[in-house]
Amino acid sequence: MVPEEFEKKRNAGKVNRVIDKITRLLGCDKISTRKVDLLSYSHDYWPISLHWMLEDRYPSLPHAVIWPESKKDVKEVVKWCYKGNVPIYPYGGGSGVLGATVPERGGVVVDLKRIRSLKIHDKDLLVEAGSGLNGYYLEDELNDKGYTMGNIPQSLYPSTVGGWVSTKALGQFSTKYGGIEDMLKGIEMVIPPGGELCLKPHARTSTGPDLRKLFLGSEGALGIMTKGWFKIWPKPEKRIKLSFASDTLEDAVESVRKVMREGAEPAVIRIYDKIETKRHFYDYDEIFGKVATVMVIEGNEKITQAEKKIVKEEFIGTEMGGKPVDHWLETRFNVKEAAEFVPMGVVFDTIEVAVNWSKAMDLYRNVVDAIKPIKGVLFASAHASHFYPQGICFYFTFAGTTPRKKDAEEFYQQVWKAAMEAVLDSGGTISHHHGIGRQRRDWMEQELGEAYSTLKAIKERLDKKRIMNPGNMGL
Ligand SMILES: Cc1cc2nc3c(=O)[nH]c(=O)nc-3n(C[C@H](O)[C@H](O)[C@H](O)COP(=O)(O)OP(=O)(O)OC[C@H]3O[C@@H](n4cnc5c(N)ncnc54)[C@H](O)[C@@H]3O)c2cc1C
Repeated sequence: MVPEEFEKKRNAGKVNRVIDKITRLLGCDKISTRKVDLLSYSHDYWPISLHWMLEDRYPSLPHAVIWPESKKDVKEVVKWCYKGNVPIYPYGGGSGVLGATVPERGGVVVDLKRIRSLKIHDKDLLVEAGSGLNGYYLEDELNDKGYTMGNIPQSLYPSTVGGWVSTKALGQFSTKYGGIEDMLKGIEMVIPPGGELCLKPHARTSTGPDLRKLFLGSEGALGIMTKGWFKIWPKPEKRIKLSFASDTLEDAVESVRKVMREGAEPAVIRIYDKIETKRHFYDYDEIFGKVATVMVIEGNEKITQAEKKIVKEEFIGTEMGGKPVDHWLETRFNVKEAAEFVPMGVVFDTIEVAVNWSKAMDLYRNVVDAIKPIKGVLFASAHASHFYPQGICFYFTFAGTTPRKKDAEEFYQQVWKAAMEAVLDSGGTISHHHGIGRQRRDWMEQELGEAYSTLKAIKERLDKKRIMNPGNMGL
């Protein structure tokens, strides 16, 4: 059946009957059709959806919000929604920035936050977590018991482990601990039309292709994750803070490339271009006008000392000590620009991408050069926040005011289009860790080519009626 026919069927209105059925099965306290709840779940952190609210527009309201408390509840929801052809939007913390939870075709938002079990397996260095478990709560519990998972995204407080897996997220300490894909060892999923699968957490397995990977970054389009098993580490015994001021971005980037090539893995490395150095380190006169790099090296005492030596030998720039790192550690969860300026009419967003070392500086320049001349843009800048022996993640920020005769959405999309095209032309990938959602879907095919058709075929096989987050990632 083609998608349009599904849409017509949906509009024919089985939705309320399905909602009634689910209410009877799960109980009234697990489902709501109150306007205030529908409104709260009509958006995530995607600036477009926040902009709708500022304008008092609500184009994407769900019909109901459901809070399942067990895998059994989730299976009933998927089963009855599949039967009734009702779209489902899995929802963790709603901290996604690309509209991936926006219920653009109506249906039900399924908030997993009540599924939040937590069990530590000490000998196996694993944690077993319900998919709705809050990120901060998880890390705090682990720290209390002498461990870390090492996944500390800036959105640690508002995000969940199911969201991390589904967006293929990663944290500020990724250069040592890796992304969520390196931590996920086992996964439990509920898939249409209401079945389940569980891939157990083995130290390693070669029993066929690794289907865990299929669900990493699947953004709610292939099923609902109910549980995961993740790698954990004993809490690091030593932490070293280093910072540098370099004359140019090239110097700092080249220094880190060499550090990575030597095999050192500082947990945190962040290089700020000149604009962002001014924004973040305005209190440090010695860094003003330069390019700041902050680093945290942590882990085993002897290994950290060796890593520190490598960094000091390779870095082109003046050492600035631990204070700028303390400043970074204290302010790293602040997101005040978006909160303060957007309601005043400033268009503001971030775009994270990745590229191999050989093309890194070209991509940086091409993206900034593509954004800056657009009428209304006030600035375009970047920092580099995640590193690999093969390459680097650049995290661009832009801000602007909408030119006359344009609306804010049009202006915003013009900037995004310029950035995405510059990334693809420069040989980069359009997303490093935020995923695709509804904002980036138009460029999926261009980057993936034939692999996008394969992804569509997998979607078709798993979710014939396209009830799982329809439209997300263009699926
Ligand atoms: C201020 C700020 C800072 C951020 N910093 C980072 C960062 O440092 N690193 C990073 O990677 N990201 C970051 N993000 C983006 C965002 O926090 C991540 O994408 C995060 O992983 C989303 O988790 P969530 O629980 O909020 O998911 P949601 O936003 O609720 O959902 C995201 C996607 O996952 C799907 N989903 C959620 N739960 C499930 C489930 N159980 N089963 C199936 N699908 C599911 C949803 O359908 C949707 O497609 C940031 C966002 C903000 C607002």
